[in-house]
Amino acid sequence: MKIHEYQGKELLRKFGVTVPRGIPAFSVEEAVAAAEQLGGPVWVVKAQIHAGGRGKGGGVKLARSVDEVRQLSTEILGMQLITHQTGPAGQKVRRLLIEEGADIKKEYYVGIVTDRGTQRVCVMASSEGGMDIEEVAESHPEKILKVFVDPGTGLTDGEAENLARGIGVPETSVKKAAAEFQKLYKCYWDTDSSLAEINPLILTGSGDIIALDAKFNFDTNALFRHPEIVAYRDIDEEDPAEVEASKHDLAYIQLDGNIGCLVNGAGLAMATMDTIKLFGGEPANFLDVGGSATEERVTEAFKIMLANKGTKAILVNIFGGIMRCDVIAQGVITACKAVNLSVPLVVRMKGTNEELGKQLLVDSGLPIISADTMAEAATRVVAAAK
Ligand code: ADP
Ligand code: MG
Repeated sequence: MKIHEYQGKELLRKFGVTVPRGIPAFSVEEAVAAAEQLGGPVWVVKAQIHAGGRGKGGGVKLARSVDEVRQLSTEILGMQLITHQTGPAGQKVRRLLIEEGADIKKEYYVGIVTDRGTQRVCVMASSEGGMDIEEVAESHPEKILKVFVDPGTGLTDGEAENLARGIGVPETSVKKAAAEFQKLYKCYWDTDSSLAEINPLILTGSGDIIALDAKFNFDTNALFRHPEIVAYRDIDEEDPAEVEASKHDLAYIQLDGNIGCLVNGAGLAMATMDTIKLFGGEPANFLDVGGSATEERVTEAFKIMLANKGTKAILVNIFGGIMRCDVIAQGVITACKAVNLSVPLVVRMKGTNEELGKQLLVDSGLPIISADTMAEAATRVVAAAK
């Protein structure tokens, strides 16, 4: 789950990370009031969307008077902001952050992610802040320093100071930068983040270190223990199909292909997508209906897949373990009738009551293509989608 920059900064503030003073605004009037409350002489009007690259896209602008704050807020609020992370359609700006202008002497980068390879938290820092870090990683990988943190000790003073020195923080500010890294690490750890990125982290004219941007991603599986983070959720920023799916407890991710997949179990869902690709097809979604695939949930799953205009065929791939194949078959039949299924459907079922399930599908009279093996199912659905 992602959150807005102003929410990220609120979180950082709680952990003692230094951030500029700023106030979120949902209207031009609120933006003007925020600027007046903050006081001048320089403000930054920042579009709040769940994507980076806002500056380049025209969503971060400097204002030198309250009038200019009003003018820029009028321009930015409601605009369709296009960045390299939004896709060509862009994202509508519904919220702003009005922030005091910082005195930037140098921009650095610091980011924290969980590294599955080493099974550790990786803290990355770079002298090349403010710009596209993916580009730095590509052209100057040596300019990104990494520390793989021992969970027992956390980010130590020595590690944090070495990072700060390594990216060229002046000696007089190294202790300050190191302390910011450590507080950011604690924030990442305590909130079950999967990504915390400050780009840029700046050195000010007076030698202070401040987080000027804040990007967070949280592990959804851990959200149950962070109601304060769940409260930050902004559904306007999420894919409508994924929001609908989450209401029905379906794990659904929209993709670019044309073959809808309905599978029980995340591992089987991944394997099904791989198999579709192996046979020359492209999945339109990832969808795990979970262990308790009731008729209602299967129906909702069909509705969501069919709402995606890109879906040209559907593959149902079910393993009947605790779940019985006849129950699933009944669910599929009910769902097909309820949604007036308009695209070819391939069904593969294995496991408990498999024969009974297959018979139910045949008896239903619905034009369901059945398949026995994964390869057969994939071949048939790829052909059907063409
Ligand atoms: P994004 O990464 O989405 O482009 P940022 O928050 O990083 O958005 O802002 C882009 C750039 O705007 C920063 O690299 C920085 O140079 C400038 N900037 C952002 N906030 C401020 C601020 N409070 N004061 C001065 N400059 C800022
Ligand atoms: Mg940034």
